[in-house]
Amino acid sequence: MNKNIAVIRGDGIGPEIVAQALKVLDRVAACYGHSFRYIDVDMGGCALDKYGDPLPEHELEKCKNADSVLLGAVGGNQWNDVPADKRPEKGLLRLRAGMGVYSNNRPAKIWRQLADASPLKSEIVANGIDFLIVRELTGGIYFGTHKTENGTATDILQYSEAEIERIGRIGFETARKRNRRLCSVEKSNVLDSSRLWKAVMHRLSNEYPDVELTDMLVDNCAMQIVKNPAQFDVIVTENMFGDILSDEASMITGSIGMIPSSSLGAGTCGLYEPIHGSAPDIAGTDKANPIGTILSAAMMLRYSFDLNAEADAIERAVSAFLDNNYRTADIMRSGMTEVGCAQCGDLIAEYIGKG
Ligand code: NAD
Repeated sequence: MNKNIAVIRGDGIGPEIVAQALKVLDRVAACYGHSFRYIDVDMGGCALDKYGDPLPEHELEKCKNADSVLLGAVGGNQWNDVPADKRPEKGLLRLRAGMGVYSNNRPAKIWRQLADASPLKSEIVANGIDFLIVRELTGGIYFGTHKTENGTATDILQYSEAEIERIGRIGFETARKRNRRLCSVEKSNVLDSSRLWKAVMHRLSNEYPDVELTDMLVDNCAMQIVKNPAQFDVIVTENMFGDILSDEASMITGSIGMIPSSSLGAGTCGLYEPIHGSAPDIAGTDKANPIGTILSAAMMLRYSFDLNAEADAIERAVSAFLDNNYRTADIMRSGMTEVGCAQCGDLIAEYIGKG
């Protein structure tokens, strides 16, 4: 398979972690007979310094024309005082809007080797944590009208049937690629938008008879994620609920450096990035954990290119790295061998194709 991948290294630790993901992709290409061509894209503080714009149109075009986009992270203290519309993070918002990605997908998975890093009780962790939150990204209360008048503030929460249907489809399709269980999370006991949400999900479920659909109120879901996370496979929910639940879910897995994400729209071209930022405090020290970015590349193979065996191989290689007691600084424990960012990438790449 030949694929063009737009690569945004970004700022801070971005270039270091992306380099490791590319090593791993190169190894996958060599083992499985694929060809991945990388197109470098400037975005974030580095683009601001170079072009005076965190995402110039010509750089956005490269992303739109690629088969998918891999991103490290953007931002840093040196750009804190630039005007709001020039901030590096603005580039990211424009990228998401420009690519039309309306679904943010974040897995919450605990690696058994890192179980003691979870703040949950060991008997809960022992049941396994491996679910994915599909969050609507471009609608709802964050995008409604906001106003403050005469001492009263108003934020409008609005969803159309079409917006719910397109994110619902991503939920069902994603569940199909996993264990075929979808939990739709809303607040239908109070909100009209949630009642519409629930009705659309149930209508859609007729088209996906192979996926088991359940409903859950968001307050209950927040409790269930810490009480019994093993019950979940895929959760689909609206923007603000998803924002809050996905942070809660990433916390219970223990380490921010390990978690990938994907953002998808209508086609197969997606945006893949770790959930953390540019970590300026450790940039250039070879201390960053590149696994979140490497797993983001695995998600790209699975969800955009349908290369499931290759994605499985990357996940197995990460597991082998941990089984062999290697750890980056952020997940280091006594008795383990600490490795830097570059060596972590080398080792994971080496394990690919070795069973
Ligand atoms: P951060 O995620 O960059 O860092 C928070 C803490 O986690 C730091 O101590 C950092 O060293 C550590 N950390 C993060 N990623 C790590 C990794 N891969 N390995 C080891 N340790 C890691 O969050 P922050 O400090 O709040 O933000 C720093 C900059 O990143 C800001 O400019 C912010 O706006 C930006 N940011 C960018 C994105 C993005 O590009 N998607 C997301 C969040 C924040």
